Amino acid sequence: MGFEDRVMLPPSEIPKQWYNIQADLDEPIPPVIHPATLQPISPDELAPIFPMALIEQEVSKERWIPIPEEVLNIFSLWRPTPLVRARRLEKYLQTPARIYYKNESLSPPGSHKPNTAVAQAYYNKREGVKRLTTETGAGQWGSALAFACNLFGLKCTVYMVRVSYEQKPYRKVLMNIWGAEVLPSPTDRTNAGKSILAQDPNSPGSLGIAISEAVEDAVTHEDTKYSLGSVLNHVLLHQTIVGLEAKRQFEMLGEYPDVLVGCVGGGSNFAGFVFPFIPDKLDDKRQTQIVAVEPLACPSLTQGIYTYDFGDTARMTPLLKMHTLGHNFIPPRIHAGGLRYHGMAPIVSFLYDKGIIEAVAYPQRAVFEAAVTFARVEGIVPAPETAHAVRAVIDEALRCKETGEEKVIAFNFSGHGYFDLSAYDEYLSDRMEDAVLPPERLKEMLSGLPKFSL
Ligand SMILES: *Cc1c(COP(=O)(O)O)cnc(C)c1O
Repeated sequence: MGFEDRVMLPPSEIPKQWYNIQADLDEPIPPVIHPATLQPISPDELAPIFPMALIEQEVSKERWIPIPEEVLNIFSLWRPTPLVRARRLEKYLQTPARIYYKNESLSPPGSHKPNTAVAQAYYNKREGVKRLTTETGAGQWGSALAFACNLFGLKCTVYMVRVSYEQKPYRKVLMNIWGAEVLPSPTDRTNAGKSILAQDPNSPGSLGIAISEAVEDAVTHEDTKYSLGSVLNHVLLHQTIVGLEAKRQFEMLGEYPDVLVGCVGGGSNFAGFVFPFIPDKLDDKRQTQIVAVEPLACPSLTQGIYTYDFGDTARMTPLLKMHTLGHNFIPPRIHAGGLRYHGMAPIVSFLYDKGIIEAVAYPQRAVFEAAVTFARVEGIVPAPETAHAVRAVIDEALRCKETGEEKVIAFNFSGHGYFDLSAYDEYLSDRMEDAVLPPERLKEMLSGLPKFSL
């Protein structure tokens, strides 16, 4: 009774290889382009920013890439993670659907993000790097990287968007505990930061500015590289350990999911969860419905354009072909800080364009309503990002109630919300609003997209 609702993979069966979906796409995804030459970027041009091993993974077509022993060793602190049947949620909804979630909130920083942070810290360490820089908004990524760098004896500098630094002190403390230096961005340490401060000494900062600072810091220091927590192919690759474990756990159960759901910011937890199931769909063995869930306030898949765009506001990054709202797009303030990115991972964008995956967008209050329901019946408090997936799962389960379909619905529980309680407080005391995105503003951002004839 009950125990079979938590499917554990024996520690010895942790996946030893990552799955690279680029091996199974029948056409290659469009290359990363250098904004000055408009030519595909070469590995040498990326070398000041990333270690060679990660640049190779970025373009690799090998289906299976071995996970280094040292990385697996650290993963054993929390992996394999359980696949849990949400039987109390099913009962509460009175649905004939069977609902499962993969619990990625059990890592020490509380999300899926250390799956790539640990791998990235490992490859940098192996190539002699001494320090990593990165940006963080709400602090999920910064704390994952701080955790990973600490384990490998690397220094870590986090440029944290100033408003978050001031309003969300607890993630900063977590980063400090793991030994990272956390700076409110814009800072006077970089030219990018100084020029912003010259215009506005009280600038609240933005993710775009923080990225520019972190990249500049890395390229101007010999022993330092930059690390990104989502979007890029190698990050999605590292997250596939989630879906590989889940696939194995479904085999143990003798089930196969009919619907897979994940929330999307840059696309990494969604990709990691669903990519290992996609070959079965491409081979016509399964008709799995695969759903990405995004905020209505930042709808890059459902309302963005599939085109080449910059990754940051300051136009410092290479050009990526992706679904984007435009690099100048600053979404309304919503509590799911991890879902406020203007673009989407190139591989996720490609699959959406081909109709292999679908997407849905929700307003903030409906999302928190679902999160509170989930917490009341299943116990764990979802991160505001994760709550988007919970909303879509509840709606699908309610549709099954109408039709009587006994679908198997599975979602990635990307993280817990214990550092986001002020957002829950706002929701519970009825002070939360649905941030609306004026259509004129969206139109303006999209018309401002760079036009390249490639
Ligand atoms: C960062 C974050 C996300 C969004 O990032 P993706 O790269 O799209 O996965 C989702 N959930 C949690 C808990 C996060 O911390």
